[in-house]
Amino acid sequence: MAKVLCVLYPDPQAGYPPPYARDSIPEIKVYADGQTAPTPQGPLGFKPGELVGCVSGNLGLRDYMEKNGHEFIVTSDKDSPDSVFEQHLPTADVIISQPFWPAYLTRERLEKARNLKLALTAGIGSDHVDLKAAAEKGVTVAEVTGSNCDSVAEHIVMSILAIVRNFLPSHTLSQAGVWNIADCVERSYDIQGMSFGTIGAGRIGLGVLERLKPFRMPLNYTQRHRLPAEVEERLGLTFHPTVESLVSSVDIVNLSIPLYPSTENLIDAQMLAKMKRGTYIVNCARARLVDQQAIIEAIDAGHIAGYAGDVWFPEPAPLAHPWRNMRFNGMTPHISGTSLSAQARYAAGTLEILEDFFSGRPIREEYLIVHGHGLAGTGAKSYTLK
Ligand code: NAD
Repeated sequence: MAKVLCVLYPDPQAGYPPPYARDSIPEIKVYADGQTAPTPQGPLGFKPGELVGCVSGNLGLRDYMEKNGHEFIVTSDKDSPDSVFEQHLPTADVIISQPFWPAYLTRERLEKARNLKLALTAGIGSDHVDLKAAAEKGVTVAEVTGSNCDSVAEHIVMSILAIVRNFLPSHTLSQAGVWNIADCVERSYDIQGMSFGTIGAGRIGLGVLERLKPFRMPLNYTQRHRLPAEVEERLGLTFHPTVESLVSSVDIVNLSIPLYPSTENLIDAQMLAKMKRGTYIVNCARARLVDQQAIIEAIDAGHIAGYAGDVWFPEPAPLAHPWRNMRFNGMTPHISGTSLSAQARYAAGTLEILEDFFSGRPIREEYLIVHGHGLAGTGAKSYTLK
């Protein structure tokens, strides 16, 4: 029997469950790269399409935990020294957290977590865990790889259209009773013909490239491993050996790489200066890939035309976070990977990982980030410890 500490975002302000807009969601069995969607033995403790990412939804894990005699603590109280999370940290065997409401597992917190064996991300992106410290302590870090990549790719395409076409200010003006077309369109352009470049063409980045192909835009990418020639040819991709080469050639820059020590502040003032005037930036990967203040200054200087995304630091973003009122921003709270559709997949994947972990079966290779004192699986392909 184990103690499982699960940190999820708070319930809807109007109460749980919410009234749903639809009765069901499409079932996705296989992802674009051929990986199968989660296959837990089950039963699932929820109906796909329900809100399970919040505290009352508990990822649908309550029945599974009770049936197997595990102690299951679910909370959204995660940051202060006397938070519920801190109280249970020293005795937890498994910690489940989400990138949308991350329980930061710093080295200091990992030192306190004496019983911890598994840090499980219900979603994708485990940078809220100090991976080096986890590897040293022999803690396995796993995430539900693939589960929300298409959700994020859709959000990125939406964000590109929103900032380039000036959708959000135009919508706000229509709600305010305004019908001044010129005010809406003075910063509105078509994306057709604009050159797009993604830093990272893994599951999400490649998904964005696939979706942008019909918009008839020149498509560019840079990443550690070059894509197969067949993919480059089919999508008409131009590969750039360096980030500098990519950002200086395109009109729209997207970030779809993980955050680890050497990608922190990748887009700093020097990198921004290499971009053309009027470049748009979209970042649904991690906030600390960019220098927050340098982005504000480049927008205020008229060098960067707009910035959109859904990732902030820290999360939740404080009321006074300067990006909330940054000019020409298309920011949302961290939602792209937690649509109701995405939740069904990452909650099922969380159950699959727990079933394997508790029965001593190997966790799927692609779900592993850290295992056996080092990077493993997807972690070995996409992260470094420095
Ligand atoms: P992935 O592992 O499939 O792809 C990441 C790619 O980045 C890999 O191909 C890797 O080779 C490449 N890469 C790593 N370091 C690089 C570098 N320094 N320069 C160039 N390329 C580099 O991951 P993914 O599923 O596409 O997700 C990417 C990131 O997006 C995640 O790590 C996570 O931080 C973020 N994400 C955000 C959300 C959200 O809700 N906003 C949801 C899912 C993932």
